[in-house]
Amino acid sequence: MAVEKLLLGEVIGLPTETVYGLAADAHSELAVEKIYRVKGRPSYNPLICHVSGPEMAARYVNVSSTARKLMDIFWPGPLTVVCARKPECKIADAVSAGLGTLAVRCPDNEATRAVITALNRPIAAPSANLSGKLSPTTAESVYKSLSGEIPLVVDDGQTSVGIESTIVAVDGDRITLLRPGSVSADEISDCVSLPVHDRDTSVITAPGQINSHYAPNSRILLNCDQPNGQVMIGFAGIEGDEDLNLSPDGDLKEAAHNLFEFLRIADARTDGDIVIAPIPQRGVGIAINDRLKRAAAPRTNDNKQVAND
Ligand code: AMP
Ligand code: MG
Repeated sequence: MAVEKLLLGEVIGLPTETVYGLAADAHSELAVEKIYRVKGRPSYNPLICHVSGPEMAARYVNVSSTARKLMDIFWPGPLTVVCARKPECKIADAVSAGLGTLAVRCPDNEATRAVITALNRPIAAPSANLSGKLSPTTAESVYKSLSGEIPLVVDDGQTSVGIESTIVAVDGDRITLLRPGSVSADEISDCVSLPVHDRDTSVITAPGQINSHYAPNSRILLNCDQPNGQVMIGFAGIEGDEDLNLSPDGDLKEAAHNLFEFLRIADARTDGDIVIAPIPQRGVGIAINDRLKRAAAPRTNDNKQVAND
């Protein structure tokens, strides 16, 4: 069913281990354009191409030995690798938003990998939310924001990781972190015995890097140890609302798993602010704080979202 819809040029919701994706046949310029239209995503923000493994990736991009090592170690899993497109690359140009590079990842979800394998080509799939809004970690969240726009969402329960993939650009043996995720820069560096460079934050190479992003409707206040009469999301020993402690045991992976769902619950519960306990800046905590900082970033035009996703 999912494969048929994709072959017809439709866009559908598919599960991954990070968040739910809005998927289209990556060879089809028309289908990929639908992704941008349904999400309200600006055409200059490139998409991640989901592949069945390193061999499929190598059909489309130049895979250096360092890139290959990363794929072998971390795939299937939440690491996206940005490499140069091959001249003969058949992926729709819109996927790369005009860049000479392509972001590739092999998702750790059997159902979705089976769809890619059956298609025998990659699917382009950004997160299945409206641009600028919270990424969906359940099929229900996808339905709620995109119902009527897409014919199918494959439901595989709540995603395990809960935040979007780590993204690295790999040029030869130079690795640059473009977006933190559950695979940390230290882990990557240790595995390949190479430094992981920070990107030059003064240069926007892809607009997911714009500050305001992942925004709920409420204002977000970070690093609070008390609710002060507002809805509070806790962590470890700092309690929030009764059912909103990201991880009572202080487990950062559990916190990442719960993050977007708790923000959604908190957002539905208040017209006021959402206050959030401090999250340690280590391991997955770096990615959680990245998402929280963007959710809390000032928006222009009285709360109107300017950034994209
Ligand atoms: P999403 O799938 O919605 O989490 O967004 C994917 C993100 O991947 C985008 O916001 C970009 O920041 C990033 N991305 C995709 N393709 C590229 C690329 N070719 N170069 C750099 N970043 C990319
Ligand atoms: Mg997204």
